[in-house]
Amino acid sequence: CGIIARIGEGDAITKLVTGLENLEYRGYDSAGVAIQNGSGISVYKRSGQISDLKDTIVGNVPQGNVGIGHTRWSTHGSPTDANAHPHTSETDQVAVVHNGIIENYAELKEWLKSQGHEFTSETDTEVIPHLFERHLETEATIEDAFRKTIRKLEGSYAVAALVDGVDAIYAARQGSPLILGLDNDEYYLASDVPAFLDHTDKVVYFEDGDVAVLKPNGVTMTDLEGNQINRDVKQIDWDP
Ligand code: GLU
Repeated sequence: CGIIARIGEGDAITKLVTGLENLEYRGYDSAGVAIQNGSGISVYKRSGQISDLKDTIVGNVPQGNVGIGHTRWSTHGSPTDANAHPHTSETDQVAVVHNGIIENYAELKEWLKSQGHEFTSETDTEVIPHLFERHLETEATIEDAFRKTIRKLEGSYAVAALVDGVDAIYAARQGSPLILGLDNDEYYLASDVPAFLDHTDKVVYFEDGDVAVLKPNGVTMTDLEGNQINRDVKQIDWDP
């Protein structure tokens, strides 16, 4: 399973799909991408191979410079198109990819349902976009809403999220791998280095509890409470 995300100049889609192909060695049963371009988030997701996902995209290639991608190794819910990631919120304002297991998803889902939320998958992951969207209504900033969402999760996760109309990627990790890649005019997130190694070998390794916001002009990292943190940029020497 794996995550790739990218923000920068020009369209993201090709870099996302190539990134997913470079993560195939990790194993998966489904794949998907979401692109944000200011006029609704476009989501493409399929059970099966990345080639199946490509068949879905061909002829309707989404434009946009910000995107997230996912290869899924099912833990909650069978490998169907509906259970493939990205998962979206009630009004499709938010899209999320996730690796890991949300241990307390059942109680979060029960509560969200009691508040009128409708779910379209059997995954543990789907509670994340729904919670994030709810918190967007009550919190002062998107960053606050994202951190509040992440603080509610128990279990293991690498998460990357998009918000419609916002030129940014929101990310967090706890117990699942997530790496930041820094190029001159673009930023990547991935589960492992090969996903973006064609583009950059400058990386930051996230630690548990780290939250990052990637914008076209830079990356900010905080802890779950919003206190700024700094992590070293490492140049990797990759010899496959
Ligand atoms: N638990 C999530 C699911 O079953 C994510 C699995 C993964 O890490 O790919 O959809």
